[in-house]
Amino acid sequence: MTLLAVNGLQKSFGGVVAARDVEFTVGRGEMLAVIGPNGAGKSTVFNMVGGQLRPDRGRVLLDGHDITHASPQKRFRRGVGRTFQVAQTFLSMSAAENVQMALISCRRQSGGLWSPARERHREKAVQLLARVGMAEAADIPCSALAYGDVKRVELAIALAGEPKLLLMDEPTAGMAPRERTELMDLTASIADAQGIGVLFTEHDMDVVFGHAARVLVLLRGRIIAAGTPDEIRRNEEVKRAYLGD
Ligand code: ADP
Ligand code: MG
Repeated sequence: MTLLAVNGLQKSFGGVVAARDVEFTVGRGEMLAVIGPNGAGKSTVFNMVGGQLRPDRGRVLLDGHDITHASPQKRFRRGVGRTFQVAQTFLSMSAAENVQMALISCRRQSGGLWSPARERHREKAVQLLARVGMAEAADIPCSALAYGDVKRVELAIALAGEPKLLLMDEPTAGMAPRERTELMDLTASIADAQGIGVLFTEHDMDVVFGHAARVLVLLRGRIIAAGTPDEIRRNEEVKRAYLGD
């Protein structure tokens, strides 16, 4: 069954049409990649799904509920999660504390970092870290972790909200090729096991074609192609406009 349905989304900034008649769906457990050159409108689309931007036109449905006009917080409670970079100020905190903060700020947990609920949060945080292969790092400050490991912690933070849909806008930016593949392998296995739909952007075409079930190609705000990785690789318009061969 369809998890996310996006219908006719449109967004302009001044004279620039950043998204034009954008339509797609994401199913449970499905990984959908959105690709396109810089300025194509990828982040604009993500932000309209996440609620950071209101579309000029069109609708966003999650599980059949119209969330087009819902706040980011309301979408989050309905199951729209996204990865955020661990902010500079939180780098001094341990991996577990970062995940505990996320648990506290989301719907199913209550109490502060220093409250009686702390032990419960800690246990759950370590479980989430284990899910991303980072249980050992629970008590290590994020500032002391390798970049790729911080990215795993960011994934655990996003999972703390128990998302149905996970938005990952350039999750592997700044990572080495091997780390990128590892992070997306991990994301794919979690998405599959938990039935989480994933919408992601990625510049590395090997990662895109290796991990996405389907790929959308955006160019100047418009979807110029949509299909399986094989279909996209063979698409002449995509090759000309974007893949450059
Ligand atoms: P991408 O993520 O694919 O690089 P964006 O969605 O960030 O593309 O941008 C699409 C277009 O919209 C670009 O031309 C960009 O300059 C413009 N744009 C995006 N956000 C804003 C904004 N907040 N204000 C004005 N123009 C914007
Ligand atoms: Mg972007």
